[in-house]
Amino acid sequence: MKKIVLLVSTLVSLLVLGACSSADQNSSENTQEKLKVVATNSIIADITENIAGDKIELHSIVPVGRDPHEYDPLPEDVQKTTEADLILYNGINLETGGNAWFTKLVNNAGKEKNVDYFAVSDGVDVIYLEGENEEGKEDPHAWLNLENGIIYAQNIAKQLSVKDPENKEYYEENLEEYVAKLDALDKEAKSKFDAIPDEKKMIVTSEGCFKYFSKAYNVPSAYIWEINTEEEGTPDQIKNLVTMLRDSEVTSLFVESSVDDRPMKTVSNDTGIPIFAKIFTDSIAEKGEDGDSYYAMMKWNLEKISEGLSN
Ligand SMILES: [Zn+2]
Repeated sequence: MKKIVLLVSTLVSLLVLGACSSADQNSSENTQEKLKVVATNSIIADITENIAGDKIELHSIVPVGRDPHEYDPLPEDVQKTTEADLILYNGINLETGGNAWFTKLVNNAGKEKNVDYFAVSDGVDVIYLEGENEEGKEDPHAWLNLENGIIYAQNIAKQLSVKDPENKEYYEENLEEYVAKLDALDKEAKSKFDAIPDEKKMIVTSEGCFKYFSKAYNVPSAYIWEINTEEEGTPDQIKNLVTMLRDSEVTSLFVESSVDDRPMKTVSNDTGIPIFAKIFTDSIAEKGEDGDSYYAMMKWNLEKISEGLSN
């Protein structure tokens, strides 16, 4: 019996030694070459940074404060995408809708779906645009439900670990910590909105980007136009919203940081309902400002929306 124990322990130490030396070799081989990752927008880039830290070289395409639905990639974006080991995009009709800038970009770069580029929204419960239920007609704003943000983070960590197995443990530890943080905010949001009387619950924004949020936090929403790839702020769209609001108890309007705020200002003038706050939907804020990460923008939105609806 003693002999067996001794033999097993020797085998274990040999295995451990073997594992250590091969890990050492890998890390010395890879120190000069970090995994090259491209994210299509600031929200996906921020979630990725929370998991990958400085283990990767990250390029984010659509600049902070800009609309990710329709975009014209710069020469630098094309170059980074061509060189990338891993490309992360939202999917479900965001960068692949409208002028389909992402589809053109990855085709030109010779990249392959689910080999080089991955939709971080894979696995979310998709909501479609009004009256639609087919591919290409999805509402892309799944991240505005924190539970989906957690799915995004899990998908990102999984792909990072596949492409860069040497840092798998690091990614998994960061994922666990990050998910706990998002989960706590999600619970806080649910109890905050539960406390608001039903007749006061209505989020009014320019783009109809709150479908996932509405469902998750049980707060209905209304908008001027449904998605940024359609005409934004036509007289008819404004008139429809104004008519609806005149018959409602709504006391606060909101405007997104990444859209033209003039149509919402017109709605505010025509109804006498003030714009309560700027909120973040399709982009995080500039570094150093409130809302400068996915977590911070969600926290900002939850606070401003619950404050505005409690008025
Ligand atoms: Zn949008």
